[in-house]
Amino acid sequence: MVPGYHRPAVVKINLGAIRRNLENEMKHLEPGQKMLAVVKANAYGHGAVEVARVADEVGAAGFCVAILDEALQLRRHDIVKPILVLGVVSPEYAPIAAVNGVSLTVPNLEWLKEAEKYLEKENLQLKVHLGIDSGMGRIGFNEDEDFIAANKFLENNDNFFVEGMFAHFASADSADESYFERQIKKFRHMESLLTVKPKWIHIDNTAASIFHDGIKSDLVRFGIGIYGLNPSSTPDSPDLKPAFKLEPALSFESELTHVKTIHKGDGVSYGSTFVADEDTIIGTVPVGYADGWIRKFQGFKVKVGDKYCPIVGRICMDQFMVKMPEKMPVGTKVEIISDDPTAPNNIKAAADYVDTIHYEVACLLDDRLPRVYY
Ligand code: PLP
Repeated sequence: MVPGYHRPAVVKINLGAIRRNLENEMKHLEPGQKMLAVVKANAYGHGAVEVARVADEVGAAGFCVAILDEALQLRRHDIVKPILVLGVVSPEYAPIAAVNGVSLTVPNLEWLKEAEKYLEKENLQLKVHLGIDSGMGRIGFNEDEDFIAANKFLENNDNFFVEGMFAHFASADSADESYFERQIKKFRHMESLLTVKPKWIHIDNTAASIFHDGIKSDLVRFGIGIYGLNPSSTPDSPDLKPAFKLEPALSFESELTHVKTIHKGDGVSYGSTFVADEDTIIGTVPVGYADGWIRKFQGFKVKVGDKYCPIVGRICMDQFMVKMPEKMPVGTKVEIISDDPTAPNNIKAAADYVDTIHYEVACLLDDRLPRVYY
């Protein structure tokens, strides 16, 4: 969607907070450990290029993205450090990655064989990280035989440079460490089968790094922590205490575009799910589900001026309505999401309200909402 520069609705990103979160993680790294800044999905909705630039300055060793196009976007913006694509890229695009110095994830032996055909044709070498499925159940080697065969295949194979081997935790944010330990054990077992020697063997994400000590991981793939959000803040796991203070960087603001009084019996929005039982002041905000502010937020309280007001009636594609305790003028600021973690409309509260996680709320905020950096 086109960014809406001519309507009062923006996502504000505090780059100072992002810098401090990154700096704190850099200080927290174990001796010799390096950080890859995870900026996939447009840096979890925060803006990949802007966040990557800060991470670059702070000393990140490189970046992780989910898809090849995200890596190419960073390269187009003169980001020269290593970039790892965490997802599976179709082998036919291996030459594009090789030419751009982008590292790809190897999900299995078949992928390697296919990619080799394309690389051979153009006499190219691709940097790869061997993906290990140590219990995430998503991508990567999970059987010894395949992994041993892949190692054999890679020995003295000039089309590939084995830069890394990695796995991803399913529950490093959980107080119950049994599955986490099991994943480490499997990862170590796969590591023992290596005959090629990757430069980086890595398993830490934000949660593993800030809640657990002593995991041998050459790199931390630091994602949600960059954005100042606690990875344990999910509806189904208790809060664990991070090793340092995380500072949320994202807030979401708009303004009232219309204010009126409705009367007993008047409804608001599609289906009239809200009907006034007395004279009621209604404000309209020019944000809707097309912006990623989904219909489930009906009833959530946003801050209008200095008052928290519930969203009433169904959220429309491009607008929603709030019930206000007093008349406030058109142009009054509406803070939909606050970056103050103690505010009732902080991103975790918003996520809890719609029964999801803050990762999802941030990612849902559409490009129609311009990002403003300060
Ligand atoms: N590594 C992989 C493979 C991932 O998929 C992700 C995020 O989903 C991360 C690292 C970063 O995780 P987090 O944002 O929890 O730090």
